Amino acid sequence: MVRIPGENADDALSRTTDDFSRPSDVERLVSDIDLSPYLDRADDPVEAPLPDPVPVSTATPPLLALRDLVTDPRFTDLFARALREADPDFRELFPRDASGVLGEFVRAMSWALETVENARGDEAEVAQVVEFARHLGADHRKLELSTRHHQRFGEALTSTLRHLAGPGWDDRLSTTLGTVYRVLTTALREGAAAGHGPARVGATVVEVLRPTRDVVVVRLISDVMVDYHPGQHLSVLTPYTPGVWRRFSPAMPANPAGQIEFHVRDVPGGALSGSLVRGVGVGDRWVLARPLGLLEVDRTEPVRDVLMIAGGTGIAPLRCLLMDMMRHGANPRVHLFYGARHPGDLYDLPTLVDLAATAPWLTIQPVSEEDTDPWWAGARQELPRTLHRRQTGTLVDVVTGWGSWADRQVLLAGSPEMLRATVRGMVAVGTPRENISFDRP
Ligand SMILES: Cc1cc2nc3c(=O)[nH]c(=O)nc-3n(C[C@H](O)[C@H](O)[C@H](O)COP(=O)(O)OP(=O)(O)OC[C@H]3O[C@@H](n4cnc5c(N)ncnc54)[C@H](O)[C@@H]3O)c2cc1C
Repeated sequence: MVRIPGENADDALSRTTDDFSRPSDVERLVSDIDLSPYLDRADDPVEAPLPDPVPVSTATPPLLALRDLVTDPRFTDLFARALREADPDFRELFPRDASGVLGEFVRAMSWALETVENARGDEAEVAQVVEFARHLGADHRKLELSTRHHQRFGEALTSTLRHLAGPGWDDRLSTTLGTVYRVLTTALREGAAAGHGPARVGATVVEVLRPTRDVVVVRLISDVMVDYHPGQHLSVLTPYTPGVWRRFSPAMPANPAGQIEFHVRDVPGGALSGSLVRGVGVGDRWVLARPLGLLEVDRTEPVRDVLMIAGGTGIAPLRCLLMDMMRHGANPRVHLFYGARHPGDLYDLPTLVDLAATAPWLTIQPVSEEDTDPWWAGARQELPRTLHRRQTGTLVDVVTGWGSWADRQVLLAGSPEMLRATVRGMVAVGTPRENISFDRP
């Protein structure tokens, strides 16, 4: 029981909790407490005028002026702060270092503003932007955002851009931003409404394997089956870095028992992967969301043979595709190049060799950049023999050393650098770019 100063016990007992909402009671309760340390300071950097606001010329089209404001280097910090103050729920979504997620927002927003400006009335171009926002909306179902969140996000965006523009902010920019944001939120809501299946599914870690120092294989059982296609990836939220969603690719096809396996590598300096690799344990609860991605074996006639190239944990989605292919009677030939830094980093080779033993259409070519394992890597498992001897070099050098593979459908998975180097190297030796598929980082 809470007693208001001066109130007797009987009165306090007969008072309902709702009575606390009466301003006079609340005011009386807090009147003696000094709340000033908890209130915004007058020198709040979001509110104080910037010494050098972004110059906005009235000659610049308003969409491009908004793009210049969004891409200003100070935008992400100011916006993160405005968001955290706008709604308590945003504190988890946009943590103190929100440069990753807000960096993506800046890229998407500046692309959308430029595309609409350059479209000059071409509806197909504008539709492309709206379609992108709908996809985003479908993905955002996992965040369980409400109309209130969209509204607060819009208010924080407006106040940040107004602050950056300083005296250059005018009705023209304000009206344009209002229209852009209305179109954006409508598309986001439409995308979210069109999504199928549960927005998030809980999953329990049931087994953890540590094949190398920096890779962990995590097996989970999901509360309900997540119906992903082989080769797709899932958005994953873990307890190791709260609020940080990352994409991981299941290494085995979806099944009614809800068994899922992920392979995660520790990316030095990354927000999540290091704490996940070090901290994951049996019994932990993860959240899985909407499957995404278009990596697949094209079976349209005439079916082309397949070249798969996997770097490190990029083996996960490709192995998932191979396991799915095992369920088909007839398959195109598949040549898989599986690469890593050291020979002992090829941790999934035993499983691949087992698959190849019953799949005459599958050939595995191990590749490592170094010839031997370093002393600090400790004892490594004995790698199985493959039909093709391990080759030494980068994946791109070894793959292109065999020719252009121009007649194959080419599927890639790996780190952003590996993807960039491999696409560039293959196109340089004559592989048609349209033959190469991978999910963008
Ligand atoms: C479609 C898709 C599927 C993915 N599937 C897997 C998977 O099955 N297993 C897995 O371990 N990871 C996978 N990733 C990468 C994963 O989503 C995270 O990006 C990675 O775990 C790093 O997260 P982080 O929070 O530690 O680092 P962040 O804070 O996100 O990134 C830190 C830096 O590392 C770079 N980076 C991101 N990923 C890599 C990488 N793999 N190698 C080197 N640098 C990188 C980023 O560009 C950034 O500069 C996938 C990514 C995508 C886009």
